[in-house]
Amino acid sequence: MHNSRAVLALAGMLFCTSAVLADDSAIFRLPQSIQPTEQAIELKLDPSQPDYSGRTLFKLDIKEDVEQIGIYQIDIEMTSITLSSGSDSRVLEATEADYDINWLSDGNTIVAGQYELSIEFNAKLSTDSLGMHSSKFEGKKYIFTQFESMYARRAIPTFDEPSFKLPYQLTIIAPEGLTVVSNAPVAKESTTDGWQRVEFMPTKPLSSYLIAYAVGPLDRAEIKGMSVPGYIYTPVGHADELGFVLGETANIVNALEDYFGLDYPFRKLDFIAVPEFAFGAMENPGLITYRTDLLMLGDNPTGRTAADALSVIAHEVAHIWYGDLVTMAWWNDLWLNESFASWMEGKITSQLYPQYESELRLPQERAFAGDQRTSVKPIRKTVRSEADTNEGAGLAYSKGETVLRMLEHYVGADAWQRGTRSYIKKFSWRNATEKDLWAVMSEESGLDVGKIARDYLNQPGYAILDIDKNGVVTQKRYLAYGLEAPDLQWHIPLNVKYKKDDKIQETFYLLSDKMGTVDLPNNAEWIMPDSGGNGYFRWKIDIDQFYALVDDLDELENREKIAFLDNSDALLAARELSLEDYMFVMNKMLHDPHPLVVLRALEKVKLVGDQFIGPENAEAFARFIDAELSDRFAEVGVETKADDSDALLQMRPRLLRVLGQYGAASAARNAAAEAVDRYLDSEDSIDSNLAVEALRVTSLNDDGGRYQKYIDTYLNSTSADQQSTILVAMYFRDLETIKTHLDFVISDAVPAGDGISGLRYFSAILSDHTVLYEWLEKNIDGLEAKIPGFWHAVLPQVLADGCNDTNRSLMVGFFEGRGEKYQVSLGKAVEEFDTCIARRKRDGDALMSFLAQYD
Ligand SMILES: [Zn+2]
Repeated sequence: MHNSRAVLALAGMLFCTSAVLADDSAIFRLPQSIQPTEQAIELKLDPSQPDYSGRTLFKLDIKEDVEQIGIYQIDIEMTSITLSSGSDSRVLEATEADYDINWLSDGNTIVAGQYELSIEFNAKLSTDSLGMHSSKFEGKKYIFTQFESMYARRAIPTFDEPSFKLPYQLTIIAPEGLTVVSNAPVAKESTTDGWQRVEFMPTKPLSSYLIAYAVGPLDRAEIKGMSVPGYIYTPVGHADELGFVLGETANIVNALEDYFGLDYPFRKLDFIAVPEFAFGAMENPGLITYRTDLLMLGDNPTGRTAADALSVIAHEVAHIWYGDLVTMAWWNDLWLNESFASWMEGKITSQLYPQYESELRLPQERAFAGDQRTSVKPIRKTVRSEADTNEGAGLAYSKGETVLRMLEHYVGADAWQRGTRSYIKKFSWRNATEKDLWAVMSEESGLDVGKIARDYLNQPGYAILDIDKNGVVTQKRYLAYGLEAPDLQWHIPLNVKYKKDDKIQETFYLLSDKMGTVDLPNNAEWIMPDSGGNGYFRWKIDIDQFYALVDDLDELENREKIAFLDNSDALLAARELSLEDYMFVMNKMLHDPHPLVVLRALEKVKLVGDQFIGPENAEAFARFIDAELSDRFAEVGVETKADDSDALLQMRPRLLRVLGQYGAASAARNAAAEAVDRYLDSEDSIDSNLAVEALRVTSLNDDGGRYQKYIDTYLNSTSADQQSTILVAMYFRDLETIKTHLDFVISDAVPAGDGISGLRYFSAILSDHTVLYEWLEKNIDGLEAKIPGFWHAVLPQVLADGCNDTNRSLMVGFFEGRGEKYQVSLGKAVEEFDTCIARRKRDGDALMSFLAQYD
């Protein structure tokens, strides 16, 4: 699965568990003594109706005598349950238990043997974009599915656990004229009385969370050049917007087949653009679902829009091997799916699309931020429920990807690839656990990979290393200043780069204890303990060496520069570096020749703006921004030029944003407003990445007068990309406009998955959240009815921006007495506020002294 632009912004802090802890004695998994070996499912679906009916037939291999059969279902009315064996047949009754398990029994023993279990049922389509959901787009109704992690049970009674892998044979009866598509190719079709009956071929063995189908007025275009047939499906009328993705998909699939040494293992590979989607994309074999704005991009998207789409496609298709073909045995190993798909996404996009320089987006930056909380849990943790799976799921992507990249460097890329191939081959069509993976990797590499990996998977947080001039290195758990948590220890592979006598060299050391000694010459001019920028740790060196390294920045690779900048920010937060020293590094990076290094520095400037700047110091900060960035802006402007590098295309929008939001000079604001006028009249007049930031800058500086123009364009646009561009750029600060917009995003005009967008963005830009809580007081029920359920429990974290005591009090006042489900997230959000507020108090004066030089 892949998270969308909106969801990603919360990565690492996304999701949390419902606070009621499970009773350990409650059964949360089904016994393995009853194995489903096949499931046939027949559904009668009409997108124009809110409910549907179905029946399903399981073949069961019951290995020992049992009293009852467990299956999962939720909110499904089972009207008939029959168990048969040969000519014997008995009617079973269902008893609901914890964790959505239903126990089926007639009070008599079911002796070991082969059975058929048949269930007839009725249920309602969901409307929150999870499970089997109804979706309205441009006035037409559709049905789509999203079954990961535990949503199949909302649609169909199933053995809804990843360890049950079996062939599913779907039959869908739908109104004639609509397109019906699923994981497998169609086997048979017939029509009677206005209804078509579409019988699909049985799938290969799958876990239930990978079942997918869609019904509606769909168009399609063919993907050429793959080893299996494939189409991209879209809502009717949009198949001509697929040029870019149609042209690139086969390259990605072929590159993955080469890496794995194994052809795509299913019968077809269709993509489908889903207009209402809680996530970014989902790797259902044979029918990968995507948000429309990831596929319907026209022929020539540029910059981040293009790079993101290619990354998500690489991620989803990589899951075909890592997830679909070889599946985690249980959700506690979700990282086996997500870390690998994320790591592979980086590998493939770097290889196929070097122009986007995706290696300069460091996943550890996202992971470090989420993983530094004292309340954070390890990637591998006890999982009983969907909420447990979701809690901290962002780290399974970002931290896992970083750790895999670190391990790949440790064992060598060739050994890592051999290990991957042999793991996939060995566990094809089956389940695996982390033990299985490390056994294979260790065998191929001759190194004890599991020993290192487990420190990172089974423990939260990460280390900070202190390396002195003699190479003596000490580790402790990294903590932001003022926070306390138990100390921990890791195995840390260290690639240390250093300069001595004008020569740059590198040395390797595996730190296995609290302390150790890296083989370094005495008094190196500088050392860079994270050569390559692949380490999952923070580091501190002597301040003289630190300044020597800043002076010599051109000797570092771009990726190392970015890692160095991010590390410096972390040192500041831990009070291991002064604000003055930090601003010195940041300022140097702001003037780097490479646009993507500048981009990272701009993110850091923006963070300073978001966390430290209020009415009292806004003018001084604006002088700094204008002094350091105006020349660059004059040079790059807002117009795309024929010879712009992809790196520049990625950096330019952020430069516009930082100048337009925090600067005082008018050039950026005027350019943004002019770009907005053009974009709202004609989508193609401006690159959409630039449009996002131009729209934001313009709304930030508007009194609400342009709001209606934004909304009218949103409502009239037939472009998914333009709609999502406008929705993420609603930064109006006028109070009446804010209320109007909050009402708008929970209305029918906006898809459920985007219903949270108003609160999220206003939280980020308002220094006083009063208006948001006034609105929530009246509308929290309406909001929660609208948005996907997993957002409910994390609402406090959605509102955790706006670093001051007022906003903290408003949040605590609103959520504290409001129900158990918010409390875990409230704890995290309060920690966020406290860390940020303390940082502001601590370093506020130092920032003012730094800014004084721009008077
Ligand atoms: Zn994924």
